[in-house]
Amino acid sequence: MDAVARAAGEAQRWPGQVTEQTMADGRPMFYFDDVATDGPVHQAPDTRPLPEPPHAGEQRFDVLTGEWVTIAGHRMNRTFLPSAADCPLDPTTDPARPTEVPDSGYDVVAFANRFPSFAPLTVGPAADATPPPFGPADLPAYGHCDVVVFSSDHDAAVADLPAARMRTIVEAWAHRTAAHSADPRIAEVFVFENSGQEIGVTLSHPHGQVYAYPVVPPRSQQLVEQARRHRAVTGGNLLADVLAAERAEGTRVVLQGEHFTAYVPRAARWPVEVHLAPHRDVPDLAALDDAERAELATVYQELLRRVNRFHPGVDRVPYISGWHQAPTGEDRELGRLHLQLFSLLRAPGKLKYLAGSESGMGAWINDTTPERIADRLREVAS
Ligand SMILES: [Zn+2]
Repeated sequence: MDAVARAAGEAQRWPGQVTEQTMADGRPMFYFDDVATDGPVHQAPDTRPLPEPPHAGEQRFDVLTGEWVTIAGHRMNRTFLPSAADCPLDPTTDPARPTEVPDSGYDVVAFANRFPSFAPLTVGPAADATPPPFGPADLPAYGHCDVVVFSSDHDAAVADLPAARMRTIVEAWAHRTAAHSADPRIAEVFVFENSGQEIGVTLSHPHGQVYAYPVVPPRSQQLVEQARRHRAVTGGNLLADVLAAERAEGTRVVLQGEHFTAYVPRAARWPVEVHLAPHRDVPDLAALDDAERAELATVYQELLRRVNRFHPGVDRVPYISGWHQAPTGEDRELGRLHLQLFSLLRAPGKLKYLAGSESGMGAWINDTTPERIADRLREVAS
């Protein structure tokens, strides 16, 4: 590597640091600082008298669809839209009101969810449980659910955070992906964000989540099967070939960087939908190099801003942003990192509901065209 390339690489390296802590009930917690400092930081202890964290629920196999369904009845009691004064994701600034984050300040923090859908603590089936009449036996909903808080500012929006902060968030996503992928009982790690009350967000503080699943989830399972057929016929990687085809055709490409391209998928199902994929074959966020992570931070915020400007007169468009990553074990070579960013808002004040055809049959009908979505996403570029 020559001196110029080395200097460029160093300029793109994340300048921050990670500090690991343990919460009062034993849950792990990680502070991610935008910039590293000398000496210990984030040493404030979690002094709350917390009960033991909940144990995993169960997964039951749906013999009609061949999919696992997670039964997480204990989540019924979780915190639902607390007032800003009771937000559990704020830093602890008043000892009389300790939150989930003991320190009085932070940049980004990730910790195990207090009300997880999948948990590392498991118990066997209840003594009075009846086994399924046929099909696989129930499984514990083993796994990990992290909350990743993007800012200590309760009212911040991800699209408007400083660039250095977005870079730290990418680092947190990669860190949690690598950590959970190392657990041999985990089959896939999903990094996602729900934004907007319209789509069921229970805490408005800017945050995302990481789910580490014990079995490959249905959408990924379908993708793996499609990729397997594609490989048998063409010898290629499906997701890489889709990206190459979109770049060659160009009509649905909305943004191209040095390392990433964003495009509206040819069969988009949501009224606003865009995918973002790395140019290099990469299985997950943890495998991105420094230059890719740096560009990703920039490109991701630009996409969020465009989605936000999609409908004239709407201030904040609700969205779901999900990172599809390769399975961690079997079939890993068939997967490839890509982002699916979409909104249910089809017009100001009008949500696309998953009604009869979509909910009952899984048969999607999009009321606009992917090409029109791409035109609009290019029009509202920064
Ligand atoms: Zn808050």
